[in-house]
Amino acid sequence: MRLTSESIVAKLPTLTQVADVHATFDLVVEQLETAHACMRCMDGCSQCCHQLPQVPLCDWQVVLDYMHTHWTREQRCALVARTQRQARKGGVWAQLASIRTGGQTLEDLWQRLTDVQTHAQPACPLLRDGRCTVYPARPSTCRAYGRTQFSNGEPFWCGIIERQVDDALAAGSAAPSAPRLEPFMLRARQLSTPDQAAVAPIPLLILKHALPDGDLAPQALPFDDDDYLHFPIDLEAIQRVNFQGTRTASR
Ligand code: SF4
Repeated sequence: MRLTSESIVAKLPTLTQVADVHATFDLVVEQLETAHACMRCMDGCSQCCHQLPQVPLCDWQVVLDYMHTHWTREQRCALVARTQRQARKGGVWAQLASIRTGGQTLEDLWQRLTDVQTHAQPACPLLRDGRCTVYPARPSTCRAYGRTQFSNGEPFWCGIIERQVDDALAAGSAAPSAPRLEPFMLRARQLSTPDQAAVAPIPLLILKHALPDGDLAPQALPFDDDDYLHFPIDLEAIQRVNFQGTRTASR
């Protein structure tokens, strides 16, 4: 029996692993792509890996688990060293690493992040030779980008997908209805430690989790007020959003 997106979301409370939540979200996206070819990513495209995706700590734990299970210590140390080198030698990573969260409004922080991105489109440190090196464990943001709605019902689409959709609509195809990421984010968060709902760019997560011996810490660490750039996730606001994208209660 083919599950509808709504019935998939209804099953979320029964899932007990973040990886299962991610796999379930993949199923929703797969259904979307099957129904609307215009929502399919081009093979080999890594455009979104140059957008500094904001990754929730609960998803970062999945990435850490993957790197500690499937990578050698040498591979992890090389990733840390590469990222630290880039942060030291100036440019985008250095700008990013110099932004501290403490004492700034969310609007200021988003503006500073936008300023950095306006001048450069840095590749994610986990992208090598055009491929994601943690693909089976990639964050929900990466799974979702381009084909979903996120935050107040705004499309979370990439320009390539938008053009594909425009072309399909011009050719008379039905308009696709993008699923929402929030219910999946919420369930992943409920299943996770640390006890903090926050998102941060991947390079900063790598810098934050670098150990003195050059390896990566195995456990996701909560952010301090005056830590690297990070943003809180408003879980209460997410809980008020239902799958159709309308709010179930007023703010
Ligand atoms: S984690 Fe993987 S999919 Fe996500 S931005 Fe980095 S390289 Fe791309």
